[in-house]
Amino acid sequence: MRIDILTIFPDMFPCVLNTSILKRAQDKGLVEIHVWNLRDWTTDKHQTTDDTPYGGGGGMIMKPEPIFAAVETLLGEEKVPVILLTPQGRVFNQEMAQALAQQERLLFICGRYEGVDERVREHLVTEEISIGDYVLSGGELAAMVVVDAVVRLLPGALGYERAAAEDSHATGLLEGPHYTRPPVFRGWEVPEVLRSGHHARVAQWRRLQSLKRTLERRPDLLARAPLTQEEKQWLREQGYEGPYYDENENADLRTDN
Ligand code: SAM
Repeated sequence: MRIDILTIFPDMFPCVLNTSILKRAQDKGLVEIHVWNLRDWTTDKHQTTDDTPYGGGGGMIMKPEPIFAAVETLLGEEKVPVILLTPQGRVFNQEMAQALAQQERLLFICGRYEGVDERVREHLVTEEISIGDYVLSGGELAAMVVVDAVVRLLPGALGYERAAAEDSHATGLLEGPHYTRPPVFRGWEVPEVLRSGHHARVAQWRRLQSLKRTLERRPDLLARAPLTQEEKQWLREQGYEGPYYDENENADLRTDN
């Protein structure tokens, strides 16, 4: 995969991109990440990337010319998702990360100030992504969040391959609790089943914990998670009546009686 990031603050990136899994993925050749300074596509002496808004009001707007020039130079005729980070975009989630991880190339545009000139959004951008319902000072941190979530899904990026498949949200549920040594810490014991060495029992326990945790913290997720009849029965016994995800009708939601 290749990722291009357009920003007026390229110095924000090296630390994040050159650490841990993101670094390892690049070292292994799974992804090439290029961070570009938008100012390199300006034509004036002051390398201006923003200007005052038409119609007045406070704040500055990012000019369209450098952004169009940068994207057109980098992509040429290639059809690539051009992603604008914006609090007005679709709220990012694991499903979106999985879809982006299938792409061969991605380009991210990081906004600043009051955002980008609307013509960028209308005529250049193919997707708009928000990382949550709050406003950041710029798109750089949002781009790093999305890039991290995508790159860790590339085959070979994680030390333990199955981790991504077992993570919260990958299965539609939250992941259950984890423990490591010591077996007893300040009198608090690691559950016996995890020390039993009995793989089937461990898997069953983990699945139940995952269901419990999702029911307690994010019952909204249960409507989208593929569940067995036994699991639905267990949830009903806990007082959860649905809706449930219906595999037969693909992503349709229905109350299962
Ligand atoms: N005036 C804009 C609005 O109300 O939609 C907000 C501009 S914000 C201060 C500056 C830039 O930060 C945005 O252009 C965007 O690139 C980025 N940004 C802010 N919040 C974000 C979020 N939740 N997700 C993704 N990007 C965000």
